[in-house]
Amino acid sequence: KIFSGGFTKTRDNLAVIDELLLYWNLSDTDRVLDEIEEALLVSDFGPKITIKIVESLRDDIYAGKLKSGTEIKDALKKSVLDILMNKGAKTELKLGFRKPAVIMIVGVNGGGKTTSLGKLAHRLKSEGARILLAAGDTFRAAASDQLEVWAERTGCEIVSAEKEKAKASAVLTQAVKKGKEQGYDIVLCDTSGRLHTNYSLMEELIACKKAIAKIVNGAPNEILLVLDGTTGLNMLPQAREFNEVVGITGFILTKLDGSARGGCVVSVVDELGIPVKFVGVGEGVEDLQPFEAEAFVNAIFS
Ligand code: GDP
Repeated sequence: KIFSGGFTKTRDNLAVIDELLLYWNLSDTDRVLDEIEEALLVSDFGPKITIKIVESLRDDIYAGKLKSGTEIKDALKKSVLDILMNKGAKTELKLGFRKPAVIMIVGVNGGGKTTSLGKLAHRLKSEGARILLAAGDTFRAAASDQLEVWAERTGCEIVSAEKEKAKASAVLTQAVKKGKEQGYDIVLCDTSGRLHTNYSLMEELIACKKAIAKIVNGAPNEILLVLDGTTGLNMLPQAREFNEVVGITGFILTKLDGSARGGCVVSVVDELGIPVKFVGVGEGVEDLQPFEAEAFVNAIFS
């Protein structure tokens, strides 16, 4: 089942809505809506979306359009689904027709970047693509070791820096060239995610992007920002900064298995108008799933 194992904590937060609506009657509307508002806020839907949803429910209830708890619940689910479909419907990877397609994975350290890249390699390979990994996090010595482990685990080739302190853009250039010469379908590029020198990180990412574009026209095809789902709404400033500087084409939201703040999925899509392409719902190799709005809404509102 899709998203099994994921979103259970968020669902627990939102389960109170079912109880409230089971005994709802018109005279009780304001109290019930206050509590629904609270449940949405606690799950990190954020004030903007929460107020929009609750006020539209209130209007429809008092206008007599919603006449039962079930109808209110369905309207609530539909509002969330509408946000995701309007602003983040394009969840499929856009890989273009030129080979190789290049996917850059960016994000701050600890968010789940390397793990997500490994899981994505596994998924794309099992769909039949020839995958080359590129260890573009040259800043952290352990990062390319970690990626080597994933290369072994997934049976993918990897290009790593030959000498210490190599430039990230040089490693990615080498990898994408190899990908082109040797007919790979997709080059998956890891990048650095150091937190404390953000400015030069952003410059480095721009340099990587340019270096890749020089080798394959139209590449990188995707720049996916990995965000730690346990940080909830706190991920928004980070998402904005990366998008302003590098231009993000999609999100990977990780650790949603352990996060009670799954409403941030809706918030980040609404705020940035960029789709969530994958969600991480565990540490296993299979635990990166393509994001599907409807399945998500059904998973969090049980
Ligand atoms: P990076 O520094 O961004 O490359 O982060 P890592 O890929 O090393 O991941 C940091 C930690 O988060 C590791 O212990 C991962 O196993 C864990 N992790 C990554 N994604 C998920 C996920 O979807 N669910 C859970 N529970 N843990 C995850």
